[in-house]
Amino acid sequence: MNKRLREKVAVISGGTSGIGEATVELFVKEGAEVVFSGRSVEKGKTIAERTGAIYFQADVMSEEDIEGTIKVAVDRYGGLDILFNNAGGTTKGPVETVTAEEINYAWTLLFSSAVLSTKHAVPYMKQRGGGCIINNSSIAGLRDNQGDLMYSSVKAALTHYSKLAGARLGPDGIRVNVISPGAIATPIFWGGSQVALEDGEYEGKMGKLQRNLAKASPLATSGFPLDIANGALFLASEEGRFINSHDLVIDGGRTSMFYEKPDQS
Ligand code: NAP
Repeated sequence: MNKRLREKVAVISGGTSGIGEATVELFVKEGAEVVFSGRSVEKGKTIAERTGAIYFQADVMSEEDIEGTIKVAVDRYGGLDILFNNAGGTTKGPVETVTAEEINYAWTLLFSSAVLSTKHAVPYMKQRGGGCIINNSSIAGLRDNQGDLMYSSVKAALTHYSKLAGARLGPDGIRVNVISPGAIATPIFWGGSQVALEDGEYEGKMGKLQRNLAKASPLATSGFPLDIANGALFLASEEGRFINSHDLVIDGGRTSMFYEKPDQS
């Protein structure tokens, strides 16, 4: 069968868990050479061994690390075609008590990381005559009650940035799109993959989360990381060649339903 990302080089941030991990696996399966980043060295090495992708330890709060990740791909594979800015996590910032530190943290983690990564990727994509950048945003950027105030506001900015960047970079053959996932069962719901769990605790927590998310979905099923990875694959492949500056909402219809916050513990 024809692989949809054959001869493509891809960089994926936050590939050590959840949506990023599923995308690493899928992109490799579809023929791409993949370099992925994250802070968790053990998880990164295990995923690299399982998939054949290259793991690079990087914190997206650091521009040096972001640039370093892209350089690994370029040095190893001679260029860059696809960039999935996926790394992210929860933030805080209640309207009446928010601190400057909380604001800076949210912007650096969820916005600057994608913007700086784009800056470092674009020259290499231009050398290839084009490329595809996908930013992982959220339906929290479209609706209330899908994430905390700071998270939602910064994701809204990321979505708008992505649309404008697509218009700016289109003439160079670089498409910039954004995915807005709905509720996808990943460790982000209990604070991220760095939260230490007891042996066997992961399965219990994940099962409960999936059941709770299913109750709040019009499709009566939780979203899974692969649902978003499949969206990223579509955008990155030849099938997405005319899709630019687009927000691909993958939420099982959640943004269209009356929404009551479910128990997400
Ligand atoms: P996850 O399972 O917790 O994965 C988050 C990933 O981001 C991990 O690989 C983590 O790696 C990485 N990461 C976090 N902070 C980082 C940092 N400072 N530097 C480098 N990597 C970092 O969560 P997920 O649900 O897959 O989240 C992925 C993206 O989807 C995020 O941008 C999130 O906002 C977005 N999203 C998720 C949902 C959902 O319902 N799950 C919905 C909408 C949007 P390390 O811990 O190893 O650094």
